Amino acid sequence: MTKVVYPGTFDPITSGHVDIIERGARLFEQVVIAVADNAGKHPLFSLDERIALAQASLAHLPNVQVLGFSCLLVDFVHSVDAQVILRGLRAVSDFEYEFQLASMNRRLDARVETVFLTPAEQYGFISSSLVREIARLGGAIADFVPDVVAKALAAKFSR
Ligand code: ADP
Repeated sequence: MTKVVYPGTFDPITSGHVDIIERGARLFEQVVIAVADNAGKHPLFSLDERIALAQASLAHLPNVQVLGFSCLLVDFVHSVDAQVILRGLRAVSDFEYEFQLASMNRRLDARVETVFLTPAEQYGFISSSLVREIARLGGAIADFVPDVVAKALAAKFSR
């Protein structure tokens, strides 16, 4: 269990994601952030922008690497020689979906395990979608995202 893959849309990466990644980076030798292309979700930021924002937000963590992917997650996990998927659990409301996802990934590939970490209390209510919505309406999001992301959101919504 030396390498873990943390997959997500990261549209954009928030301080909650960073908190989970910092915890993962203390537990595992290497953490691969797998940014899902998810074009069907029509993300606000392009895949390249989401990767760049994650890289800039995680530059202080030497054992963290950011990659994009558009294939099946379990195939991506094998392509980087990992066996473990990391996901974050904020509240009971996350549990049902995360349990379904973990069970499906196990069904697709029994060698892959999913582990869950919880964020520090102050990040438990943060989601990328809420942050996007607040930024779109001109609200203050500096407490919820890394500086580089706050600047990118301001640029996106400046008219
Ligand atoms: P996805 O589209 O796969 O849900 P996200 O980028 O929204 O991608 O989330 C990736 C993972 O990070 C998920 O496991 C999600 O539950 C978790 N996560 C999102 N926001 C937070 C947060 N504030 N604290 C802890 N975990 C989080």
